[in-house]
Amino acid sequence: ISDKFTDVIRSISGQARISEKNIEDAVEEIKIALLEADVNLRVVRRFVNRTIQEAKGDAVLKAVSPSQQFIKIINDRMVQLLGDTRQELQLKGPDTTSVILLYGLQGSGKTTTSVKLALELKNQGRRPMLAAADLVRPAAIQQLMILGEQHGIPVVADEKAKDPSKVAKSALQRAKKEQFDVLIVDTAGRMQADLDLMKELQGIKKVVDPVEALLVADAMTGQAAVDIAKTFHDQIGLTGVILTKFDSDTRGGAALSIKSITDQPIKYIGTGEKITDIEPFYPERIASRILGMGDVVSLVEKAQEAFDEQEAIELQKKMMSASFTLADYLDQFKKMKKMGSVESMLGMIPGLKAQEAAEAVDEGEMKREEAILLSMTLKERDNHLIIGPSRRKRIAKGSGTSVYDVNKLLKKFEKMRLMMKKMTKNKKYQQQLMRQF
Ligand code: GDP
Ligand code: MG
Repeated sequence: ISDKFTDVIRSISGQARISEKNIEDAVEEIKIALLEADVNLRVVRRFVNRTIQEAKGDAVLKAVSPSQQFIKIINDRMVQLLGDTRQELQLKGPDTTSVILLYGLQGSGKTTTSVKLALELKNQGRRPMLAAADLVRPAAIQQLMILGEQHGIPVVADEKAKDPSKVAKSALQRAKKEQFDVLIVDTAGRMQADLDLMKELQGIKKVVDPVEALLVADAMTGQAAVDIAKTFHDQIGLTGVILTKFDSDTRGGAALSIKSITDQPIKYIGTGEKITDIEPFYPERIASRILGMGDVVSLVEKAQEAFDEQEAIELQKKMMSASFTLADYLDQFKKMKKMGSVESMLGMIPGLKAQEAAEAVDEGEMKREEAILLSMTLKERDNHLIIGPSRRKRIAKGSGTSVYDVNKLLKKFEKMRLMMKKMTKNKKYQQQLMRQF
């Protein structure tokens, strides 16, 4: 999925101008990528419609940097799909016992995740306890006890028990008595979300009254994980989802559909078989991971701050009247600086590799040019024609460069002005030129 997106993003960001037509083309490609990633069809439709609508709005077509603006819309929509903001676990204070119930199909990762979560909470200063309420799989209790022991988390288990609700209930009593502030209950899974399983889980839920009822779903199953989440939510009620096996070469569709379809947030992701392989789920981070891009959003925001539309219009007017001076040229450097170093800025553009970015702009040359411009007098900057040989020598000395460098800059500037003059009548080209700054 990421590769596809990177391609689309790259082709968009390579475009100086954005038209309704290429918005549609790009969105079409994104649509295909989403469908291939096994994202729910309804979710894809909603995403596509909203993106097109927003992108065709005035804000994008008239923006200083339409392609970046468009990419930001795609990113924002995707963050929204993923649930907007991080949803923390809703645990009560440390003076009571909060119960976290984990559900899920067989093999989805419940047992592993219960220990992962316990360790995560322990590292946050909590006192977690585990309850082995999976009485279906023969080795389930053993598995939890071993993992618990390995990581210093006490496990309540009863090898002879027949009723998982009773196990959960007595575990809660013990947790309360021994002042554990979190009890994580590992439950049995089935191959399918059948009636038996639902009844069993409803029973457990009733006796322990959990603050969190989390579905543990395997991200690799894609669309199936979403259907399961919906079934569990309708039948027993969920407060969130933990997506496991996110490290695998998943198609990502589950993550993108779960929130829209079930309205339940993803709270954590499992990223490997090790007990420490668990991460809080941050929609923004996952969106940029899926889009395969650097921090485009903050780039766009920075660029907007530094270079507002009004200034761009002013500059364009100057270009058209050929009154563009060295002072204006120097101004561009200041704006670039506000955006951070050029190299780091280019590094944020998706699809542009660090090396390409470095090649695209010679930061050393830019520093040299700026130094030269700063060594000029105001008069010289207003009218470059007065800069004769002796002034050039003085400027070179003052800026720590050579006359050759000063000449080079002046030649480049002359060429720019010439181009602007030539293109005065060609509006489309002017805009393109503007964007190359
Ligand atoms: P349960 O039947 O739902 O209790 O599932 P288990 O906790 O026994 O896990 C089933 C298998 O999935 C085990 O081999 C785990 O190591 C593996 N597993 C669980 N979570 C993850 C994960 O986030 N990434 C990977 N790669 N494997 C996982
Ligand atoms: Mg298990």
